[in-house]
Amino acid sequence: MQRPGEILAERLRQAKVPRDYSAAFREFYDTAERHASEYMQEADIRVACGTCSFCCYQWVRVLAHEAFAIVDCISTMEPPRRQQVLEQLHSYHSDSHLLSPEDQDSFHRACPLLIDGRCSVYPVRPSNCRRFHSLDSSHCQRSVEQPELWKDTPLHKGLAGAWSDMILAADYSYHLTGHDQTTYNLAEACLAALSNPALRRRWVQKKKALLHDDS
Ligand code: SF4
Repeated sequence: MQRPGEILAERLRQAKVPRDYSAAFREFYDTAERHASEYMQEADIRVACGTCSFCCYQWVRVLAHEAFAIVDCISTMEPPRRQQVLEQLHSYHSDSHLLSPEDQDSFHRACPLLIDGRCSVYPVRPSNCRRFHSLDSSHCQRSVEQPELWKDTPLHKGLAGAWSDMILAADYSYHLTGHDQTTYNLAEACLAALSNPALRRRWVQKKKALLHDDS
């Protein structure tokens, strides 16, 4: 069976228009999720995830193409829901944009994409959210108030390793095709992508997507 990273690299090389890129990422994430789920079944791994959203209180970084997918998803929401997400993005960004990278990790606030305790963009959530899991939801609950505990979240080593391999393979695909591999702050990246459609063209042209110069 072809590995998710190999499929992604092949599709990215063949992609010509934005729709092709979106399809490539969707296929990569679908295949990666299938691999992870098969691995969990075979190894009889039971994680504590599924009903809570404690992990959505962590600082999230995204790749540029992930921000574009989120923005596309936001644009299809019903107007009241879209308005709520936009307000949350602006409020989150205004309260956090001056934080240093060290302080970002201890910023404990609900992700601006969380609505009524659920991810409003779940089908296109970033890879950092997909790969997170925990074997103990009470540890996650404590981490919401004490963010320094996140780094000690009890993980299944095999599952964490499988996800890391898939994400590394994806990173290598971006490296091979020359696409931006920078990770950006979630709220900042989404607001930038919403306000400036030209950023998507920059990404396709293999430039740093969220810089406003012509480098
Ligand atoms: S993007 Fe979705 S899954 Fe990720 S932290 Fe935000 S609400 Fe949670």
